[in-house]
Amino acid sequence: MNVLPVIELIGLPSDVNSSFERGPAEAPSAIRSALWSDRGNLACEDGQEAGIDFELRDRGDLPLRETADDDAMTTAAVEASIADGAIPLALGGDHAMTCPVVRGVHAAHGPVAILHFDAHPDLYDDFAGNPRSHASPFARIMEAGLARQLVQVGIRTLTAHCRAQAKRFGVEIISMADFAPAVVPVLDGPLYISIDLDGIDPAEAPGVSHPEPGGLTVREVLAVLRRQTAPIVGADIVELNPRLDQNGRTAILAAKLVRELASLMARNKPA
Ligand code: MN
Ligand code: MN
Repeated sequence: MNVLPVIELIGLPSDVNSSFERGPAEAPSAIRSALWSDRGNLACEDGQEAGIDFELRDRGDLPLRETADDDAMTTAAVEASIADGAIPLALGGDHAMTCPVVRGVHAAHGPVAILHFDAHPDLYDDFAGNPRSHASPFARIMEAGLARQLVQVGIRTLTAHCRAQAKRFGVEIISMADFAPAVVPVLDGPLYISIDLDGIDPAEAPGVSHPEPGGLTVREVLAVLRRQTAPIVGADIVELNPRLDQNGRTAILAAKLVRELASLMARNKPA
């Protein structure tokens, strides 16, 4: 009997490092509600289906307390998920949580390639004096050597400081102005995928703290994902702010991205 690939959700209800508005701590439960709602089913666009072609497991929310221990707890949960034979799919929370998640993935797999969707490069050395800001996770990841490649897609807010940081770290930025799905490279594994929902146009994803017009369509994100063939060792979906959502549509989008990411993880899993 074949054992199904297991993709495990890990809820990270933290928005303590958000620079402007709180709310993403409420995202994991909003995404779960949308994911398991009878409004839709668990079919994915590639023809696979959760529960049949892969198992979608849920580790629940970590009991984060807005203390310095949160990062270590997050990293430990990711390491435990991988040790259990699962591929972790983290539900933020704000984008600061990507750093401890990637740290846990790195502990198991070494330096990863990261495919990062975002309106913002999140490369600030610090933001408003906070080096753990959700505007800084990729500076911390690159400094720590957790990634051997970082490709950012959808960027449309590049400041001079972040441009210098990108150059310093060798980050490949595919700006929104130059975007087409085929421009995004097909990365070598082990691959980590980070989706900040504000990378998507606010017309389709209004429930975020930093909406930035002129973004990616959902179809474009899916087209980029579909081209990726490398084994995926972890992923996150971050920055949903349910307080700013409209009729739950951004939570519904996040739930769809959970299914599509999980299906891609199952498809690309080495035999
Ligand atoms: Mn962003
Ligand atoms: Mn971000």
